[in-house]
Amino acid sequence: MIFPWQESLWKQVAERLKNDTLPHALLLEGQKGMGKSAFAHHLAAMALCQQSQASGACGDCKSCTLLEAGTHPDFFHLEPVETGKQIRVDAVRELIEFMNLSCHYGSHKVAVIEPADAMNAASANSLLKTLEEPSHGALLILVTAHPSRLPITIRSRCQRISFLPPAEELVSDWLISELNGNGEEYKNLLSIAHGGPLYARELAQDEMMQARQALFQDILEVLRGKMTVMAFSARYQNDLSRQVLEWILTWLQDLARLCVSPEQARLVNPDVAQDLRRLAKVLDLQSIFKLQEKLYDFMRFHGTVNLNAQMVLEDIMINWLSALRVSKR
Ligand SMILES: [Zn+2]
Repeated sequence: MIFPWQESLWKQVAERLKNDTLPHALLLEGQKGMGKSAFAHHLAAMALCQQSQASGACGDCKSCTLLEAGTHPDFFHLEPVETGKQIRVDAVRELIEFMNLSCHYGSHKVAVIEPADAMNAASANSLLKTLEEPSHGALLILVTAHPSRLPITIRSRCQRISFLPPAEELVSDWLISELNGNGEEYKNLLSIAHGGPLYARELAQDEMMQARQALFQDILEVLRGKMTVMAFSARYQNDLSRQVLEWILTWLQDLARLCVSPEQARLVNPDVAQDLRRLAKVLDLQSIFKLQEKLYDFMRFHGTVNLNAQMVLEDIMINWLSALRVSKR
């Protein structure tokens, strides 16, 4: 589906597909929660549909029916076998074989690769030739929230389509209705989600917010000396998602903002502003910056190399604690 904040982008892309001027390889890039995947699949459906309209696929024809059933012979969805794992080179080879077959129905063969940054170096490498010399009617749609993790050789062969955080007025009605009319929270959620509407909706689901809240409270417990670093890492080491690292990073960013300008700081996490304000008063700014650097490194390696989760968590908390101690001296 196309979300309200994607409509003008959709018009441009759909028009080019209709006029047959769409490049054969697209890179849909933008942060989490922008609806890139939905956009990719909407576009794939339109390309395959036998009687498409400007708004997208018809939903009725043979092609649409097969796609809906997950059995369209001209559609290939390449994703990791398991979330967070790599897309392996043999999977890419299958995709290449698929691309070389002629079309069964319409005039297109479509592949969606998501997240494209899950391809390892060998996988990405083996895709290059297909990107360079596409077969007739090929449309490759790569989706990523982390374009910088893709080799430049891949990026340079794709037409990049950027999904930027939309203006609030394009999102508010949609998000409020998704939250069942409970509009009070939506600004906070959107802020925590860095403006990604789908991410904001995901956050609104209880478990997600609760998990985030619990993590924050546990960090406070460690900083107050009520929980040991070991107990903390034992609690989270089996579940050290990128999400957890990202949350920690945004709290650190808010803390740095508060250290620099306690009164005027615009916070990404307004829901825990009080605790952050209190904490910022006893933290050393340089140590917070160093800790942020560490987080960036951990996030960069997350999913690409095997990080020892226990060590990562202990490293974060020990450094955070020492940021406290420095200021108390
Ligand atoms: Zn159709």
